[in-house]
Amino acid sequence: MSDSPSGSTSDTASDSSPDASPLARAARVNFERTADRLELPKGIRTLLSRSREEHEVSLPVLRANGELAVYRGFRVVHSTARGPGKGGLRYAPSVSLEEVRSLAALMSWKCAVMDLPFGGAKGGIEVNRRELDDPEARTLTRAYVHALAPLLGPDRDVPAPDMYTDEQVMAWFVDAYAATTGTLQPAVVTGKPLALGGSRGRDRATGLGAAIVLGAAMESRGVDPDGAQVAIQGFGNAGRVLALELAEQGVRVVAVSDSSGGRHDPSGLDVAALAREKAQGASLADLDGGDTLTNEELLALDVDALVPAALEGVLTPEVAEGVRAGIVLEVANGPTLPDADPVLRDADVLVIPDLLGSAGGVTVSWFEWVQNRSGDRWSLEKVKRRLESRMQAAWEAVSTRAADDSISLKEAAWSLGVERVAAAESFRGG
Ligand code: NAD
Repeated sequence: MSDSPSGSTSDTASDSSPDASPLARAARVNFERTADRLELPKGIRTLLSRSREEHEVSLPVLRANGELAVYRGFRVVHSTARGPGKGGLRYAPSVSLEEVRSLAALMSWKCAVMDLPFGGAKGGIEVNRRELDDPEARTLTRAYVHALAPLLGPDRDVPAPDMYTDEQVMAWFVDAYAATTGTLQPAVVTGKPLALGGSRGRDRATGLGAAIVLGAAMESRGVDPDGAQVAIQGFGNAGRVLALELAEQGVRVVAVSDSSGGRHDPSGLDVAALAREKAQGASLADLDGGDTLTNEELLALDVDALVPAALEGVLTPEVAEGVRAGIVLEVANGPTLPDADPVLRDADVLVIPDLLGSAGGVTVSWFEWVQNRSGDRWSLEKVKRRLESRMQAAWEAVSTRAADDSISLKEAAWSLGVERVAAAESFRGG
């Protein structure tokens, strides 16, 4: 294992370099603006601008064809000030230390906004998951756990599914951790199968949580959800569940899209039918129901709420100029570039920030961790009730802060998140 020197300035240097990803740049800019607004003392500011730990490991896998393939794996812990590290583990060719570092910090702020007893972490393996068969993916997961086991654990760092990892990968993770440590500890990861201590509702949590805060935002804007029009970019785990939930509540989901393009019907799409057909492997562009539209057209629809639930950085200042929705609900991580925030604010668009809009998933992850540690199993009704109450409380906290300080919801969420982590660090003595 080779740890990169988290005490060096390498984190700040790479994030401000011209080729930093939009997500890394946005995370850096939002943090710096927040630190200025909060007038954070220099030491705490420096501490929170860096990762606590950055680990890079080489993971050998003897493939079925006899080749010894070696993959690069990362785990970054941004903060454990408020509790163990928490954050996803992704398997994707695009994984890099810079990306994982930015996402780890975002997890710290998100957990703090939701007032969860977790810090922030993220991990990944630079691999095309589709190139591996299941035994190879299992071996890769075992190698990752074996390399990082001393740094993981229910009280230390708790991964979860992310891009191209799922409940099966989490199950392999639990098994490998048990083999390495000699004890079965399901709380070492969340997002497990129900049979291995997963929580009911975890697979739908992000969409459910997003629907709850969208309801609260509509109420604050005087929009009647019954018949309100919503457009959603991204029809995956987050966007599809949100669409189904909203449709059940009587909201008109007038447009949805995936990477192939989208479907549009001003009188409301049959999203359940689209979800069923997409589950058979179809692309939205090829399905029946409404008219086709491009992702660019979707972002400019005249709707009550627009939901970017696919990619980072889609709302550039130019695209933001064309937004006609009254509410933007960020479900994707970092869908709005910092330079687009003032464009939306000047147009009186209410932006629900990703730190809140996409926090349903980690909130139910916390429920899973609590159930594992207390040996309890909650009903779906209980999970939904507690999610509702957590999301509403966070909505109240963020909107009250925005009103008190005359700032946007995004600025308020960042203020709350950074402030809570800073307070924990300060009380602990940095
Ligand atoms: P997913 O892989 O299940 O789905 C992604 C969707 O985006 C797919 O429908 C895909 O076709 C679509 N897409 C890809 N490229 C596109 C493009 N160019 N234009 C339009 N659509 C495109 O992913 P997901 O889990 O739904 O996550 C989506 C976003 O939400 C990501 O930013 C993720 O980080 C964020 N998020 C997800 C969760 C979660 O629990 N799923 C939690 C927090 C944040």
